[in-house]
Amino acid sequence: MGFGMRDSIERLRAKLKYVWSLRACESIIGWDQLVMMPAGGGGVRAEQKAALSEAAHSALIDDSFRKALDEAEETVCNLPEDSDDRCLVRAARWHFERARALPTTLVKELAHATGLAYPAWVEARKNKDFTSFVPYLEKVYKLSREAAHCYGFKEHVYDALLEGYEPGMTASKVSSLFSELKRPLVELVASITSSGKQPSVDLLEQDFAVNIQRRFVEQLAPMIGFDMTRGRIDLSVHPFCSASSSRDVRLTLRYCSRNLPSAVFGLLHEAGHGMYEQGSPSRFDGTPLKGGCSLGIHESQSRLWENHVGRSREFWEYHYPRLQAIFPYQLQGYSIDEFYKAINKVRPSFIRVEADEVTYCLHILLRFEIECKLLEGALEVTDIPEVWNSLMEEYLGIVPPDDAAGCLQDVHWSEGLIGYFPTYCLGSLAAAQIWEKASTEIEHLGEYIARGDYEPLRSWLAQNIYCHGAKFFPEELMVRSTGRPLEVRPFLQYLQRKFSDIYAI
Ligand code: ZN
Repeated sequence: MGFGMRDSIERLRAKLKYVWSLRACESIIGWDQLVMMPAGGGGVRAEQKAALSEAAHSALIDDSFRKALDEAEETVCNLPEDSDDRCLVRAARWHFERARALPTTLVKELAHATGLAYPAWVEARKNKDFTSFVPYLEKVYKLSREAAHCYGFKEHVYDALLEGYEPGMTASKVSSLFSELKRPLVELVASITSSGKQPSVDLLEQDFAVNIQRRFVEQLAPMIGFDMTRGRIDLSVHPFCSASSSRDVRLTLRYCSRNLPSAVFGLLHEAGHGMYEQGSPSRFDGTPLKGGCSLGIHESQSRLWENHVGRSREFWEYHYPRLQAIFPYQLQGYSIDEFYKAINKVRPSFIRVEADEVTYCLHILLRFEIECKLLEGALEVTDIPEVWNSLMEEYLGIVPPDDAAGCLQDVHWSEGLIGYFPTYCLGSLAAAQIWEKASTEIEHLGEYIARGDYEPLRSWLAQNIYCHGAKFFPEELMVRSTGRPLEVRPFLQYLQRKFSDIYAI
């Protein structure tokens, strides 16, 4: 490569570094707001965040950025498609096109509408009163539809919004995956709920002192491979993972004495996200190639640790005796078998975030159907509760007592996050497919896990997933790491095997 060619990539890299440094600062003050900031700081913090985000946005859509991008594009066109530089330029183009697609007026209108919709949603949920939320949600949907048209799409208006969370994915691909999933899942739930063998969850419904839970969980993080020299764990109302670079990855958790699984599986989930971020090569820091390749793939990493590792019997063969030792009064009388079945209890429930592994995706299928119809204009916002409740009955056999336990439960729509939900279910599918592949390539994986040795799994993930950062679209990453595009079979097989054993069906 000639001298001038190198220069054009370095020019683009410098511009990207500026934008991604601002974004990193935004993520740190966002973390601070949820973890450290005194309550009074809210108004000023919103202005600070807006200033950083505006600076990053205008640097990204600036003419000088476009010029650097055009030049770098010419330079890399003869490089191999999977070279770092070519992937970097492709990612920069993607971010540039997304950023400049929306006119500033629409961005402001959306920010204004969601700024009003969020408190209206909080109020409506508190009062179980969907009607009061309708005008706000109508506005958010109207503006989101406009945004979708600005982004552009080939097939379905939904694609334009989904692209922002899961690049390359389309509504029609999601539809076909979900329709393959629907019947087997509904049938599995039905045979589980009618099984005569229902595990008892009594052992979990006890008090587990929060300080002891916390010590256990904070020891667990480095044991599974979360690097505490490049990460930390704090408290927040809702658990999350935030990474400003591969060297600064922060997890948050919440503890409740009556809910031990919430902290344990919350840690495994967030540490799964965190290890993905820490495993992203440091040469990608300060560029759009840092971190994970999409929300769905990110979610696959959290669910892999939470469910495939954390809810397996092998995992608890090592950790249950440790747990019994610190909670002797609560757990001494219960066998590992009883514990394993209790943490894998399947029960149709109203609230998505509390759903088990089997019913979870059905909550997502329902939201996806509703979002598509709303965007197409085939459904009015006022009709959401009715459709929601009838789909809940069809999929899970239960009807929410009110809208707070139904269509008002999630924050997403009030924040304008439309097209986001499918990534949760895509994450479960990808987790099962990646797990299946890892299990065939790592001999005796289960035995390693039963001994508390996670190194073979982590290095497999590092070599097949982490090392790529955000270089590839999710579909390509799946093909590279598992040999196939995303499928539903591994997920269904995993569930059927595991739960037919637990429920004797
Ligand atoms: Zn997650």
